[in-house]
Amino acid sequence: MQDYIDIAKKNGVALLDNGKCQFCGAETIKGIHECVEIFSLGFQIIDYSKPTNHFYRFLTVDAHTLQHPEIHGQWNNHFHLTRQHLMLHYQIHWDYKLSSKLSDYLNTYKADKSEEYLEPPRILERGNITTTDILNKVSNETDCQEMIKKWGIETYNSWNRHHEVVDRIANGFIKRSNSISHNNVPYKKQAKSL
Ligand SMILES: [Zn+2]
Repeated sequence: MQDYIDIAKKNGVALLDNGKCQFCGAETIKGIHECVEIFSLGFQIIDYSKPTNHFYRFLTVDAHTLQHPEIHGQWNNHFHLTRQHLMLHYQIHWDYKLSSKLSDYLNTYKADKSEEYLEPPRILERGNITTTDILNKVSNETDCQEMIKKWGIETYNSWNRHHEVVDRIANGFIKRSNSISHNNVPYKKQAKSL
């Protein structure tokens, strides 16, 4: 992971070294540092190398980033919330290629919107499930998948004031992807309310 300590400093946020995670409320002893460590190590109970688990890997990265935007750059919020929207709202089958396409699309999008900032929900109000719940409360891969999905949905819902913005981005992305290539085209299923 990038040097999150430097990014927090740049964002003017003081990181606390002890107790619960100051951003998501995870039951840690060493605060955000432990929360980041748990996230970076992945969860041993789920095998992310299996293609069927890639979906859960994407959900994990999005949920953790959106619970801790203070340790990420401004445009990460757009990327992760849009990806959640595409996966959870439009139920698009995501893969790594689509992640790079979405990054490219956002690079174009932000060219004339450099000031746009998705203000995060208040700290500790970004979903109740945290890294330590996944680490400590699941005992098999299926439960872990379920918990990760709930984690993703809760975090996504907590950012609901920006769903309209990311819906516009998502639709622009789908439209552009469809006009460029017929391979690996995101297929927009009927929207699902979460
Ligand atoms: Zn945390």
